[in-house]
Amino acid sequence: MSRFMKNSLADLIPYTPGEQPSKKMIKLNTNENPYPPSPAVEKILENMDEDKGRLYSDPQASAAKKAIAGYYGIRPDQTIMFNGSDEGLAMSFMAFGENICFPEISYSFYKVFARVFSRKYSMIPLKKDFTIDPDDYIRSTGTVLIANPNAPTGIALDPDQIERIVASDKDRMVIVDEAYIDFGGETCTGLIDKYDNLLVIQTMSKSRSLAGLRIGYAMSSSDIIKDLDRIRYSFNPYNMNALSIAAAEAAMNDREYFRETSEKIMKTREMTVSELRKLGLDILPSKANFIFVKGGPDYYEKLKEKNILARYWNESPLSDWVRISIGTWEEMKELVKATKEISCEKAR
Ligand SMILES: *Cc1c(COP(=O)(O)O)cnc(C)c1O
Repeated sequence: MSRFMKNSLADLIPYTPGEQPSKKMIKLNTNENPYPPSPAVEKILENMDEDKGRLYSDPQASAAKKAIAGYYGIRPDQTIMFNGSDEGLAMSFMAFGENICFPEISYSFYKVFARVFSRKYSMIPLKKDFTIDPDDYIRSTGTVLIANPNAPTGIALDPDQIERIVASDKDRMVIVDEAYIDFGGETCTGLIDKYDNLLVIQTMSKSRSLAGLRIGYAMSSSDIIKDLDRIRYSFNPYNMNALSIAAAEAAMNDREYFRETSEKIMKTREMTVSELRKLGLDILPSKANFIFVKGGPDYYEKLKEKNILARYWNESPLSDWVRISIGTWEEMKELVKATKEISCEKAR
């Protein structure tokens, strides 16, 4: 750290992104989608016209918002676009995070945001079975932030459980991070007309195969969206580049491709879980495009030796577990095969 850095940030521990390996591996460590983006998006990337580069992008990202509103049956003024949902989370911490609580085991970025914005935060432990108990949040004070499905467990809450938290105190903001909602969970967006203290954040990084284009968005009451827009216009009004706006619109409108690829991933997940369970492995019930497998550092290292990259956190209570993203059917067959070999080596 240079001597110019603000003192209060001296002990900031930044977020550690998953590794992007330089050699060819079966890459199951950052929950990217194994399938390409919609062909409609590929067409846009191939045919970008020069003006899209020369002119400033639309600060309202209207085309993308209209597509999202159409998909979810809401009004465009109930949505806002972000340069990745991480940016949306950051702006939510700025706007609503004065005093905030989130699960102790969850997306590790939450703690980083709380610290970089000097927020008062508390972390609520999960139950023994790694589930979230809504009553813990009903009892808490301040803003609630929950990833649903949660990461890295993959376990989802039903919208009516989240609704209990939202309804318990209408003066408390509840933020639901639905990064993985399209893989079998049920979205809370249906509740935003009923409650004006609910903010739902989603991303196109996972279920729409656009992690590299950085597209996130939020849906809420128009008042909350206006608050977030005030922050956005005070920070980076052109947060969405022209290409991402066009790609977001195209991806959102290609519902058939989205449905097909999401279903393939869910089917592949169920195959993987059932095959690994046959080998005696303990796996949490996942509604995400990853599974959390009891295996520990050994399993992670042995997979890596076999050219399969998973995600491992060397910190209690996660250190007994390995997170494995769902790849293509063929990749997951390879994973099952490698796991079989590893358990045979162990038995010997
Ligand atoms: C991946 C992820 C995000 C970030 O998504 P981006 O849109 O790529 O920034 C946010 N929350 C959770 C829980 C995630 O897993």
